[in-house]
Amino acid sequence: MLEKEEFKIAHRLYGEAFERRKPGMSRREIFKPLLDYYNELTGFGETEPNAIMHHQIDLYGPPCEKCGKPYRTPKASFCAACGNKKMKDKNSNSLL
Ligand SMILES: [Zn+2]
Repeated sequence: MLEKEEFKIAHRLYGEAFERRKPGMSRREIFKPLLDYYNELTGFGETEPNAIMHHQIDLYGPPCEKCGKPYRTPKASFCAACGNKKMKDKNSNSLL
């Protein structure tokens, strides 16, 4: 399990994975930086990037659409960091 600061980094790596995605790349290749980061921290050997993100979302809520910080709880209605109002349940479908 990641601390909030670590999740911020993981979330950024997750976002970057979509930018570096190219046709023919496997999910493992695309998400390698995220998986490496997570597995180095936890020693777990996770191979499923979405599982990493979902573990955290269960705990802290999804990341803010505006500043990328996790909402404090899954039920938070706005971001404590920047005040952004959470879009209703839209985020839960955005992770692939
Ligand atoms: Zn925010």
